[in-house]
Amino acid sequence: MRLILLGPPGAGKGTQATRLADKLKIPQLSTGDMLRAAVKAGTPVGMQAKAVMDGGGLVSDAIVVGIIADRIQEADAKSGFILDGFPRTVAQAAALDEILAKMNMRLDAIVELRVDEKALLGRIQKRADETVKAGGAVRADDNPKAFKVRLDAYHEMTAPVSAYYAGKGTLKTVDGMQPIEVVSTAIDGVLNG
Ligand code: AMP
Repeated sequence: MRLILLGPPGAGKGTQATRLADKLKIPQLSTGDMLRAAVKAGTPVGMQAKAVMDGGGLVSDAIVVGIIADRIQEADAKSGFILDGFPRTVAQAAALDEILAKMNMRLDAIVELRVDEKALLGRIQKRADETVKAGGAVRADDNPKAFKVRLDAYHEMTAPVSAYYAGKGTLKTVDGMQPIEVVSTAIDGVLNG
């Protein structure tokens, strides 16, 4: 199963991707996680991406497409993967189509989590509070200022990605405002339906 989860920041893509990855025994490929790891490791990509990420903007298409092109060729992704946070621009979606076509692969489903945007800042705040409680480090972009930039980037650059897949007839939507379990069941429903 090759799957994309779409939705604005705080929609629950990461949570649902983790659950699906466990259930389907395929890797969750989160460009945000990979970029944060690159920042932490101080790689050239990480050093280039850090300021953009901290501010809430989008890292260049060339960087993220390069990361994903390499990652989906690794052995553990052969039988499938869940993309979380990629593609975030129509150019990334088109690049992904090309990469997959070259590998003779195709996407099985694109699932968009629809949410009430008024609730999103509260979700991000909750994630930050829970991280602190667990003794972890809060993401540099989980704050109201960076969140606004992230949401603006979503509207401007990522919302058209949904239209891109809707135009191909491959987009499914799920109500992401429900409890985690219920959203998972709804995703299972659209994947099996
Ligand atoms: P996320 O963990 O998905 O919320 O991503 C955190 C940050 O990483 C984003 O705000 C962007 O700065 C960057 N990022 C992650 N994925 C992408 C992508 N596909 N395209 C551009 N920037 C990305």
